[in-house]
Amino acid sequence: MKKIVGSNVKVTTDSTGGFISVDWECPYCEEYNAGFYFSSKEDILKGDFEIDKECERCNRIVTIECRDSGILFGETNFNAEDKVMRKYHVISAKRMGYDNGDRTYEYVFFPTDEYSKEDAMSQFCPVQKETLKNNSWYPYTAYEYDGETFYSIEYSGIADESEI
Ligand SMILES: [Zn+2]
Repeated sequence: MKKIVGSNVKVTTDSTGGFISVDWECPYCEEYNAGFYFSSKEDILKGDFEIDKECERCNRIVTIECRDSGILFGETNFNAEDKVMRKYHVISAKRMGYDNGDRTYEYVFFPTDEYSKEDAMSQFCPVQKETLKNNSWYPYTAYEYDGETFYSIEYSGIADESEI
C-alpha cells in the first residue's frame, strides 16, 4: 500500500466520533480526492495520524498521513438530521364578530426556546370591553395582539416547525 501526505487537513469531533476533511492525490492514478471521512475520536485526538482510504477513481487503498490538522467548522451540516427542530406554542385567537368565515381564527406561533407558555399567552393584552344586550351594557374581556382585538384566546399546544 502506498502512503502519501494529505493537505488541508481539518478535523473535528463530537459525541458520535471524529470527522476528517483532507485533500489528497492518489499515488496510483493521480486522481485528486477531496474527502470527508468519519473516524474514531481517538485517532483524531492523537494529533498526527494516518487513515486508509480508497481512491474515488481507481479504488485502490491509500494511506493518508494527516498532520498539522486545523479545525473543521460546520460539522453540524453533516448532522442535519440530528438538528433539533424548533417548536412553537400555538395560540388560537378568535376574531371579533360573527361573520369572519375562514378568518374566524388566527393562529399565532411563539418559539418555545424564547417564550414559556405563560409568556406566549401574556402577549395577548386583556382589555375590558362592553357589549349591549337587551338594552344593558355588559362588560367582557377581549384580547389585543398585533393591533387586532380578539374575542377569546386559547392555548392549542406545541407544534413542530414542520407543522406550521
Ligand atoms: Zn487512484
